[in-house]
Amino acid sequence: MIYSFTCIICPLGCVIEIEMENGKIKEVRGNKCPRGKEWAIEELLSPKRIVITVLPVEKSELPVVSVKTSQPVDVRKIPSLMKYLSELKLMAPIKIGDVVAEFEGVKIIATREAKKVK
Ligand code: SF4
Repeated sequence: MIYSFTCIICPLGCVIEIEMENGKIKEVRGNKCPRGKEWAIEELLSPKRIVITVLPVEKSELPVVSVKTSQPVDVRKIPSLMKYLSELKLMAPIKIGDVVAEFEGVKIIATREAKKVK
């Protein structure tokens, strides 16, 4: 079986093919550098994503604040992460860079300030 990916590591966008045989990688081709090969193998075997969303904030000038995970999260864990985040309610004030929560060792970082209402 052959899996095809367009590499997103740099603007060249190489089309990388991974050929699998008996559950093992037989060949990786199309990458112009080793970084692309590493990325494609991870994308096939254990894809990860930075998760970006908004969370509600109480006593704030803004009703929500944007947040992101401090590191890429295994895509299989994203539904349970989103369920966890959906139950959170933050309290102002919040500064950019504040760790507002943590999920299985992954920090949830504020990417916008939420000032407290006076
Ligand atoms: S394989 Fe290397 S050169 Fe090609 S797009 Fe990916 S990072 Fe860029």
